[in-house]
Amino acid sequence: MPVKDQKEITGHAVRAMYLYTGAADVAVNNGDTGYMNAMKTVWEDVIHRNMYITGGIGSSGSNEGFSQDFDLPNENAYCETCASVGMVFWNQRMNALTGESKYIDILERSLYNGALDGLSLSGDRFFYGNPLASIGRHARREWFGTACCPSNIARLVASLGDYIYGKSENGIWVNLFVGSSTNIKLGNTEIPTSIETNYPLDGKVKISMNPANKTKYALHIRIPSWTTNEPVAGNLYRYLTDYQSNITFTVNGKKVDYKTDKGYAIIEREWTAGDVVSFTLPMDVRKVVAREELKQNNERVALQRGPLVYCVEGVDNDGKAWDFILPDNAKFTETNQQVLTEPVVAIQTDATTFKPTTDGQALKPEKKRITAVPYYVWCNRGNTQMQVWLPRKVKDVMLNY
Ligand SMILES: [Zn+2]
Repeated sequence: MPVKDQKEITGHAVRAMYLYTGAADVAVNNGDTGYMNAMKTVWEDVIHRNMYITGGIGSSGSNEGFSQDFDLPNENAYCETCASVGMVFWNQRMNALTGESKYIDILERSLYNGALDGLSLSGDRFFYGNPLASIGRHARREWFGTACCPSNIARLVASLGDYIYGKSENGIWVNLFVGSSTNIKLGNTEIPTSIETNYPLDGKVKISMNPANKTKYALHIRIPSWTTNEPVAGNLYRYLTDYQSNITFTVNGKKVDYKTDKGYAIIEREWTAGDVVSFTLPMDVRKVVAREELKQNNERVALQRGPLVYCVEGVDNDGKAWDFILPDNAKFTETNQQVLTEPVVAIQTDATTFKPTTDGQALKPEKKRITAVPYYVWCNRGNTQMQVWLPRKVKDVMLNY
């Protein structure tokens, strides 16, 4: 079907992402609204019906691509690394074409979760498929006969700098919060710009700008959708309980007013060398549930902190990640930990497991303190059980895995 007539995401996931990335580039060059309209429609089909919470796509291994709407199995997820890399490419184009932050929200999700999971912390082992649950039989490999994923994730990580900033004729856009420095030129004015942050370990962000001359322009800072009541763009996922946050922006320590448009906070003023914009994104642990059509996630909850999706891994939890339920009133403790050399904020909470009574005739509930870590670091400490979607009901507990 001609691209302009397409309304649904179908077929091979990676090829689709490359096709739409190319189509978006053509739309920019030719101002062709036919391509734009088709891609907006297909994008809606992806995020409302066909995307994992990790930003991964393409659930089916048989065609390396899409199957039915809402068919997103966890343990058997195909969810190829390259498809998440393609989501980054495509969503960057969509953002540049429309100026809408929702595309960067998805880009960030795919980048930090679905794509990054494809790469080991040591940088030399790779996942082709990225499951959201495992009974311990998954492991990253050194190489593949069809070695698209290793090279694709390598070039993505190497190109990270291309995704942080954007600019328009009279504006600077901060899309990702990554410690970095660059030189942005607006008109004839050079504006050295840098970001200092530990995000996503914490939510503090400091943007410094040093325009050569006093210059009036608008600074657009993305307000991630997960800081509003929308854990992910689209209606596949929602917070278990409503959530609102307020972000305060300061310039040189003084609170400033800002407009919002298309998901960005916009601070427009005459900027001078040494100006510093500061803000803190709320990094609370949030419980996310999926819409009912995602059967495998029914009566389950996923944990999210900032842009990171979490998982429970056997290696942190007495070898088992399937033997508990997470009560809806569970309270969380956040701790700084290391997974190998990777600093992470781990989440701990009291779950409930079940032990046989002494006569072996029944099961009795028992407290189990569990630890969750960011999804992207799983499977770096040996083959181990893992779950992203944690059971809320006893029927989904698997004691003998
Ligand atoms: Zn691949």
